[in-house]
Amino acid sequence: MVSPGSDVLDRASRAGALARIAAADSTSPLDVLVIGGGVVGCGSALDAAQRGLSVALVERHDLASGTSSRSSRLAHGGLRYLEQREFSLVHEALTERGLLLDRLAPHLVRPVPFLYPVTRRGWERPYVGFGITVYDMLSRLGAYGGAMPRPKTLSAKVVRGIAPGIKDDALVGAVRFHDAQIDDARHTVAVARTAAAHGAAIATRTAVVSLIREDGRVVGAVIRDELTGREFETRARVVLGAAGVWTDDLLEMSGSSSQHAVRQSKGIHLVVPREAFPSTSALIARTPTSVLFLLPWGRHWLIGTTDTDYTGSRSEPQVDEADVDYLLAEANKWLARPLTRDDVVGIYSGLRPLLSAGTGEDGTATLSREHAVLRPAPGLVLIAGGKYTTYRVMASDAVDAAVASRAEVTTDNVPGCETDELPLVGAAGYSAAWAARERTAREAGLTLAQVEHLLRRHGDRTRTVLDLIAVDPKLAEPMHPEAPYLLAEAVIAITREGAVGLDDVLVRRTRLALETRGGGVDVAQSIAEVLAPYANWTEADIAAQVAVVAERRDALQPVPGGQIDQQEVVAGVTAVAADSVEEALLQEVEFATGLPGDAPTA
Ligand code: FAD
Repeated sequence: MVSPGSDVLDRASRAGALARIAAADSTSPLDVLVIGGGVVGCGSALDAAQRGLSVALVERHDLASGTSSRSSRLAHGGLRYLEQREFSLVHEALTERGLLLDRLAPHLVRPVPFLYPVTRRGWERPYVGFGITVYDMLSRLGAYGGAMPRPKTLSAKVVRGIAPGIKDDALVGAVRFHDAQIDDARHTVAVARTAAAHGAAIATRTAVVSLIREDGRVVGAVIRDELTGREFETRARVVLGAAGVWTDDLLEMSGSSSQHAVRQSKGIHLVVPREAFPSTSALIARTPTSVLFLLPWGRHWLIGTTDTDYTGSRSEPQVDEADVDYLLAEANKWLARPLTRDDVVGIYSGLRPLLSAGTGEDGTATLSREHAVLRPAPGLVLIAGGKYTTYRVMASDAVDAAVASRAEVTTDNVPGCETDELPLVGAAGYSAAWAARERTAREAGLTLAQVEHLLRRHGDRTRTVLDLIAVDPKLAEPMHPEAPYLLAEAVIAITREGAVGLDDVLVRRTRLALETRGGGVDVAQSIAEVLAPYANWTEADIAAQVAVVAERRDALQPVPGGQIDQQEVVAGVTAVAADSVEEALLQEVEFATGLPGDAPTA
């Protein structure tokens, strides 16, 4: 059994975690060593720790620094999977969406209204209406998240009132429905902190460089502290790899190099100012091979995403000019005021870890997001594929497999997964804190908007931010004139949220580097100076931290050329092509939608 810990992730907790990992030897091994601090690895560490197992998690860079900070930030069932008739996958994900909204992380997840445009009179409206009604019904089959408003068909006139930024001839109506948005990077950190509170040792800037095998069983790993270069061994009854697009590296370490578990598909997002598209609703629309999202995010819209095979660098996937032009062209099919590259404030790029088994030569957009648990060698469990929304289910499956593998070397009983009952750090007192927000703002001398911003990012831990400000009122100043984040939040990132470098603070604990034109470089020096006493940075450290932020910005500059395979990018085309799936589904449902067909409500 493990003793409960603190949810604070800082330099001291990292040192303690490294000491625990190094102390795990063959006489007192860890129960589970988790590799990877994305949402699936953090979810697995939490699941294992809550079951009473001794668990450590190592992450090569920062929590969520892989794909888990680069998603479309939707906790969703995935409308497009309905077309692939993945009903159980959609239902499972919608159940998780409801759990996140109602219980696990209500401060980090919220409903968002969507418009799904209808471009032609005739079959399209009942087809879209049916699909979204099925989606809504699937979400109501579970016990959570039932409070989402029901879908509604809207006339073009009503749509114009909601989204005056959509061009007049782009649609004949729309279906309005609700889905949920999640702050992916902050959520992953909250999962890691909750795992720490349940006794998990969490060490970032810590990599597994090889696996240790004895008599054919994986019994541990060689670990490298990326801050000092020191290498040491650790022992575990089971090693659980949750390495996303790096899963094949672990397969290779295990000696199974002939197998390929994942295939990586690149997706980029553009960040543009909110004024660029007047609308109070998100937009989702079909593209020739995938979907386009325009998603409200604070003072910005996120426009995504692409879906192309990719084989380059995995740490900062390259953005091609073709990616940017493709998204602008797809968005401009709908917008009254076309966007140009000048509107783009920031770009981010990520890699989907898609299961490669059974994949053919098709574009990656046709692949399923379902996950798989692999056992390439005794003592080694790998979890691959899936999507952000279903991280908890993936973690539960992976830990079940780890428990089964552990049973080969020890006998005591381990309970089942109970993470569905467990609110994450920040969640428990959130609704009471939200109800008291006006008083909190008055007492703290902040605006109501500032307190709401803090509550939606820190939940009931907003108090720790306000306590810092009470001691040092300068920390109430914004980190950047164009961004809502306060200096106190940067300090909290370092002192409680496991941030080690300035890039962790500017890219993941806040999104300042993505949401301001300078990529954070213009304020990097001044913020690093504020953080220096908390992070123990010397002048030389500050310079190094600032250089990392500049390097990241440069790495994300779009590279001339590139190709969006199979995508017919024709700016100004508004019709959405029917395809064989739609035709087939239409024949099956015979317009039994329950929603008005050609008579939209006003
Ligand atoms: P990762 O987050 O990549 O974590 C793996 C971690 O392992 C990395 O941090 C890496 O540094 C670490 N690691 C690797 N090797 C080692 C090693 N040897 N030692 C130590 N650490 C190591 N899903 C949704 O549900 N909703 C969405 O809206 C959505 N949108 C998406 C949009 C895009 C463009 C993309 C790319 C994905 C999207 N997804 C979405 C999918 C979702 O983001 C991913 O499925 C999920 O984040 C994967 O999490 P992970 O933990 O498996 O991988």
